[in-house]
Amino acid sequence: MVIGDEVRPASISMGQGVIVAVDERPADIDLGDLVIMPGLVDSHVHVNEPGRTEWEGFATATRAAAAGGTTTIVDMPLNSVPPTVSSDALAGKRAAAAGKLTVDVAFWAGLIPGSEGEIGRLVAEGVCGFKTFLVDSGVEEFPPMSVDRLGAALPTLRQHDVPALIHAEDPAQIYPLEGDPTEYTAYLSTRPAAGEAAAVEVVAGLARVSGARMHVLHLSSKEAVAALATAPDSMSGETCPHYLTFCAEEITSGATPFKCAPPIRAAQHREALWQGLEEEVLSMVVSDHSPASAEVKHLGDGDFGRAWGGIGSLQLRLPATWSGAAARGVGLARLARWLALEPARLAGLDARKGSIEVGKDADLVVWDPDGLIEVRGKDLEHRHKTTPYEGMRLRGSVVSTILGGETVFADGVVSPGHGRMLRRDDRSDL
Ligand SMILES: [Zn+2]
Repeated sequence: MVIGDEVRPASISMGQGVIVAVDERPADIDLGDLVIMPGLVDSHVHVNEPGRTEWEGFATATRAAAAGGTTTIVDMPLNSVPPTVSSDALAGKRAAAAGKLTVDVAFWAGLIPGSEGEIGRLVAEGVCGFKTFLVDSGVEEFPPMSVDRLGAALPTLRQHDVPALIHAEDPAQIYPLEGDPTEYTAYLSTRPAAGEAAAVEVVAGLARVSGARMHVLHLSSKEAVAALATAPDSMSGETCPHYLTFCAEEITSGATPFKCAPPIRAAQHREALWQGLEEEVLSMVVSDHSPASAEVKHLGDGDFGRAWGGIGSLQLRLPATWSGAAARGVGLARLARWLALEPARLAGLDARKGSIEVGKDADLVVWDPDGLIEVRGKDLEHRHKTTPYEGMRLRGSVVSTILGGETVFADGVVSPGHGRMLRRDDRSDL
C-alpha cells in the first residue's frame, strides 16, 4: 500500500465512504502482492458535454476513468458548448452530468475576454479555478486572453485563492503549416519549443507581479521545463503521458491520432520531461484527455493541418505513465504523487482526495504493476476508440477501483452510478 512516501503492507478500514483506519490488522480481504494506491485524480479532462457530447460525454468519460483507476476527474471548461465561463454555463454542466457519473467530478471554469465579471460567482459555486489560453484554443467560443488582460484579472483570482491554469504558447510563434500536411514534421514546425518556453516566461512574470497561484498546462519541451525551473514558487506545471511515451521521430505519415497541441516532440524533449518530474520542476502527470470522432481526427486523409489536436487517454494514464516510470527506476510513492496527490492539491480537493489517510474518502485503485496489457481502442470505455496507444503493450493492469468504499470497477466490469459532483475546498457534495 502506498501511504505518503512509504510503500508497506497495511490494511484499511472504511465506513460511511471514508477511511476510518490504516493499520496492520489482518484484513478481511487479502489482496496479496497487488498494489493499493489512492484513487487517481485527473485534473485535466475534456468531457465536452453539453454541446460536443458526440466527442466525449460524462457517462463514457467517467466509466473510462473508473476502468483506469481514476476516482476523480476535473472537467475542463472547453470544448463543451457553451464553455464553462458563466454561472449559467456551470449550471448547464451540472444538469448534463447529473445521473451519469461513475466517478466523482469537479469543474474548472474558463476565463475569456469579457467573462471576468463571473469569477466571484463561479468561485462561490465551487469551481476549482480558471483556465485560460494565450493562443487560439481551436474553438471559436473560447477566445484567448491578451497578456495584459490576463494580468488585470489575476488580483481577483488571488483574492479568491484559486489558481489560473494557462495554455502557454506564444501566439507570435505559431506558424502556418508548410509542405505536405500528412508529414508529422510539417505540423511539428508550426509550434516550436521556443514559443512554449517564451510563454512560460511570460506566465512566470505574471505570477511574480500578481502573487497569484499559476499553473502551466501540458508542458512538452525541454525549453519549457527550463523556463519553469526558474519561475516563482507560486507556479507549478504538468505534463501528460503522451509526451512521456512517444517521440516525433516515431510518428509516421498521416498518423493523426498523435496530433495534440503543443505537439509531441523529439526524444530529447521526452527525456527532459522525465527529468523535470524527477527534479520536481513538474509536479504531476495528467491525461489532457481530449478525444474526437475519426472524421474530426482526419483518419481518412491523415491531414495533420486539419485534424483535431487532442488525444484520448483517460483510461490509460496509469499504465502509460508507469511503463515509462518503471523503466527509469521511479518508485510507486512518486507515481502516486504525480497521479493523485498533486492533481488533487491543484484543484483544492486534497482535504478529501489524493492520498490514503484517515478521514479522506475511501477511494482506492488496486493494481498489478507487473501485469501487461495490450491496448485495443475498441475495448476502451472512451466514446471514441481512436488512441495513439493502439496495439502497444503497457505495464500495469487495474484490478479494481473503489470510490467512497464502493467498487466501481472490478474484473473488467464497470459498475456505473456512484459518482458525485464536488466543490473546491469543501467536504460536502454538491
Ligand atoms: Zn486540455
